[in-house]
Amino acid sequence: MCVAVKANAYGHGAVECAGIALACGADFLAIAAVSEGIELREAGIHAPLLLLSLCQPEEMDSLVANDITPFVFDKDYVDLLSQAVQKAGKKDYAVHLAVDTGMGRIGCYPEEAADIARHILSTGKLLLGGMSTHFAVSDSPAEGDEAYTARQFARFTQAIENVKAAGINPGICHCCNSAATLEKPEYHLDMVRPGIIVYGYYPDGKPRQYYERKKMPIDLRPVMALVTQVVAIRPIKKGMSVSYGHTWTAEEDTMTGVLPIGYADGLFRRLAPHLQVAVKGKAYPVRGRICMDQCMIDLGKNPVERWSEAVLFGPKESGAVLTAQELADATGTISYEITSAITKRVPRVYQ
Ligand SMILES: *Cc1c(COP(=O)(O)O)cnc(C)c1O
Repeated sequence: MCVAVKANAYGHGAVECAGIALACGADFLAIAAVSEGIELREAGIHAPLLLLSLCQPEEMDSLVANDITPFVFDKDYVDLLSQAVQKAGKKDYAVHLAVDTGMGRIGCYPEEAADIARHILSTGKLLLGGMSTHFAVSDSPAEGDEAYTARQFARFTQAIENVKAAGINPGICHCCNSAATLEKPEYHLDMVRPGIIVYGYYPDGKPRQYYERKKMPIDLRPVMALVTQVVAIRPIKKGMSVSYGHTWTAEEDTMTGVLPIGYADGLFRRLAPHLQVAVKGKAYPVRGRICMDQCMIDLGKNPVERWSEAVLFGPKESGAVLTAQELADATGTISYEITSAITKRVPRVYQ
């Protein structure tokens, strides 16, 4: 099990989530930047770290110093890494060979896999620790997409066979993201790499009902609630406007609640028309534009107490009106983007 904790664990806090994932039995953690690996190492995490994106040459010494396992797929990159390993006085440094079977992102093509694998071993410094590919549409229920994933899987197993035929042990073979982990046990191979399901969201195109229909019900609950407080309550007279650009003007006397959270916390401006902020179980709309650090909600005629908790999104138990998934659906994005956008200045509280 390799749990994706990249992007600050999809916004949930990398160090804490990594600790929980390992306590639950994860063998690997997946990151997307060398800096994310350094953060985990400095927090005392010794588990294998798989770097899912390419790093820059300047970062390779640091990658090697922190024992981060990189994806590789071309000879130049392999050579640069091998030099960094040599410089560090290390050897037998494991890398995973990424194969592009239809994602069009990183990876060698299946027919190149054996040649690159040979090149990895020829450095005398690097070992082939594993092989991987990444699915482009495993979360899509659309016509033809299941077949697309099947073709990707077939290309991947062909690449593995090619490497084996060259007399090279392919190591740990892995290809499943969340959607494929749930649905395709026959694709699990040696390891799976779930991300979004670990944080309690269904794969983008496959909500709860999809799995119920398939008679493989799965109960996921969002982990994150985004919570703040009503820090001020202000009377707004009929005709007064609220926030930049005076895009909203009160049509009658009302009260607004000021929330100390804005787009610099990851609460995107484009969420404003769709947000329904929950205070004491009631839903209140955002008025006017979301500012960098603040936004305003319309409390109407019977305002809540100052310092009341205001829940922007979260699981139903948090009192939220919307989940991150619903907010994503309403704004044309995916849950990943909503949660991973929450910036570091927002304190993470774990319970
Ligand atoms: C992000 C990522 C994953 C996890 O994807 P989810 O859709 O969150 O499960 C797995 N593998 C790779 C290569 C990734 O980039």
